[in-house]
Amino acid sequence: MKKKPSEVFGINVFNDRAMRERLPKQIYQKLQEAVSGGEKLDFNVAEIVATAMKEWAISRGASHYTHWFHPRTDLTAEKHNAFLTVDEFGLPLDSFGGGDLIQSEPDASSLPSGGMRSTFEARGYTAWDPTSPAFVVSGEHGGTLCIPSVFISNDGTPLDMKTPLLKSLSRIETVTLRILKLFGNRNVRWTRATMGAEQEFFLVDERKASERPDLQYCGRTIMGAPTPKGQQMEDHYFGSIPPKVLAFMQEVDHHMSALGIVLKTRHNEVAPCQFEFAPQFTEANLAVDQNQILMEQMRQIASRHGFRLLLHEKPFALINGSGKHLNFSMMDSEGRNLLKPSSSQRKNIQFLTLVSGLLLGISRYGGLLRASIANPGNMQRLGGNEAPPAIMSVFLGDVLTGIFDRIEEGLPENLPSKAFINLGLNRLPDVLMDNTDRNRTAPIAFTGNKFEFRAPGASQSPAGPMTMILSLWAWGLEQMAQMIESRAGETDVADAALDAIRNAVLQSSNIRFEGNCYSQEWHEEASRRGLPIAHSTNEALALFLVPENRGLLSGLGIFSDREIQCYYETRLEQYVKTLEIEMNVMEDMIRTGVLPAITRQIGSEASAFEKIAGSFRKGGTPLWEKQIDELVTLKEGLLEGINRMTSLRDRIGRLDLEKRAEILTEKGVPVLEGVRGMCDAAERTVSRDFWPYPRYSEILLSN
Ligand code: ADP
Ligand code: MG
Repeated sequence: MKKKPSEVFGINVFNDRAMRERLPKQIYQKLQEAVSGGEKLDFNVAEIVATAMKEWAISRGASHYTHWFHPRTDLTAEKHNAFLTVDEFGLPLDSFGGGDLIQSEPDASSLPSGGMRSTFEARGYTAWDPTSPAFVVSGEHGGTLCIPSVFISNDGTPLDMKTPLLKSLSRIETVTLRILKLFGNRNVRWTRATMGAEQEFFLVDERKASERPDLQYCGRTIMGAPTPKGQQMEDHYFGSIPPKVLAFMQEVDHHMSALGIVLKTRHNEVAPCQFEFAPQFTEANLAVDQNQILMEQMRQIASRHGFRLLLHEKPFALINGSGKHLNFSMMDSEGRNLLKPSSSQRKNIQFLTLVSGLLLGISRYGGLLRASIANPGNMQRLGGNEAPPAIMSVFLGDVLTGIFDRIEEGLPENLPSKAFINLGLNRLPDVLMDNTDRNRTAPIAFTGNKFEFRAPGASQSPAGPMTMILSLWAWGLEQMAQMIESRAGETDVADAALDAIRNAVLQSSNIRFEGNCYSQEWHEEASRRGLPIAHSTNEALALFLVPENRGLLSGLGIFSDREIQCYYETRLEQYVKTLEIEMNVMEDMIRTGVLPAITRQIGSEASAFEKIAGSFRKGGTPLWEKQIDELVTLKEGLLEGINRMTSLRDRIGRLDLEKRAEILTEKGVPVLEGVRGMCDAAERTVSRDFWPYPRYSEILLSN
């Protein structure tokens, strides 16, 4: 029988318990000081930690170790090293010292750096991040010790997603502590940003997926006529989980639990074959690592269950795409959630001060949030009927809006932190009502005791968006702190804070919107308000380069100015390459699959037509002839489409990156869409026997 979840919990993590068990007390304490107090770790300590970690990892079945890091691709990278070495006498021994733990040199010169380094000086280093615990990923034939790491170039320039995240975390901690002290919280030692990422995904039959080059190479379908029945009946959403999928989920759950990650919820999402996992939230840096582990484990376990995992933001046209909702808040060393309204007036002013800082930040630098969620897949998802639009606004809900709208008059005696809903059913207990009515159309929403950023795409690393949120929030909080401090001695903190809140409310009115963000009116309203609106990935990425936005990131020390440029280029290159690959795959599928199918159809119609032509029907066969004619037209149209793609490729071949991105957006995307329309029309006409690829109906009904 399988072990209970609580028995396996954390067994594959070198967590606090494992460290206490295996490290001498003094060493354990020194390590903790390094982790929480930011003290530099002394080499002798690292040496002892390394030995303990190695022994623990080997006891968990590991034969190799790797510095596990997050390059700027949204994926993770690893290069394995064996523990096993042969000494000068030819004897085997397991070696792993402090130096191996602290740093390694994977080279990794082919990872994108956006020109941060050229290949001749390509050395890249990974350095241990002791704030996220090491873990063992075990497979059938042994395991690997993964050491969460940052990735930097030889001159110390960050080349990864984790370093900026860590910088933003430290920045926001400093200013939050400053604010808490202003409000008289003397005992608070630290604050931490917390994060919980709801992960949406599709699971489809592996064999069907492998018969489609688009799913193979692009992770999404670039052609495919809709099924006769889509998601309109909403019979999948929250329905009973199909047994095969449940088996997959149970295995994921088990593995995650061993890796110290609790998946709190699992359910069917809106689209057929779409599902969601939500983990228990934790400190943001760890939560980012955990989300990466989850994505990777899901991918591997899916294939063992005969599924293909699709994390693409829009794998199928006309049904919902997949997002990753980032829930975030802050907690302090006393375990308090700092975004939770309370019954104490003073605590509520502190709470509103923290919220105001976020509003100020978004109102001024919302463009950075838009840029942080720009990837090729999200371009197809955002603004659809299921996902927030590409305009960054905040929904606060009735309670907070009410308070902010009347803040001129002061604060109500009691914040209605929770209201009871009486269900009118005597046998059922009263239900606690959420503090918000949960407007699902807003990209950023206050949800009672945390915020939720709903725009990130399912495949993205949460590190990018979190870094931007924390940076602009830190900036907003610094404004709040300054405003309050500037009144010190003159008035009470609470009054000074209330004034600062009033000011922030006024200044951030541009991004507050309580209505339906899917509506046309909001788009018009948003452009009247002058909010940054970017429709395409390249336009959105360009928001990184707006001088004000760059100034914020370099001013806070999150990214140097040069790094921002490189980060931008890396993301833009990813966009361009994705579109180019999609065009290549499209051409290949048309030439080798769609066109031959149309030809066969034309051939079979024509020979049938010849056999009976004019023989028995008065008035001829105009509709049939029209059908054959349409097939011929489609074939011509597709050939022309291929020509257009080829000439587009030739045209952009030698242009610079930005120009290529621009042309691909303006010309490439419409060509792809036009060609897709023709393929889908052909799919509806061509015989099932001739059509070369599994259809939507075969894929989406496969679970
Ligand atoms: P819903 O779908 O209603 O938004 P879910 O239960 O699916 O809610 O997901 C909520 C997510 O928010 C979970 O991952 C949860 O751990 C996370 N969360 C809850 N409280 C906090 C908090 N204080 N800080 C960060 N994340 C939180
Ligand atoms: Mg949700």
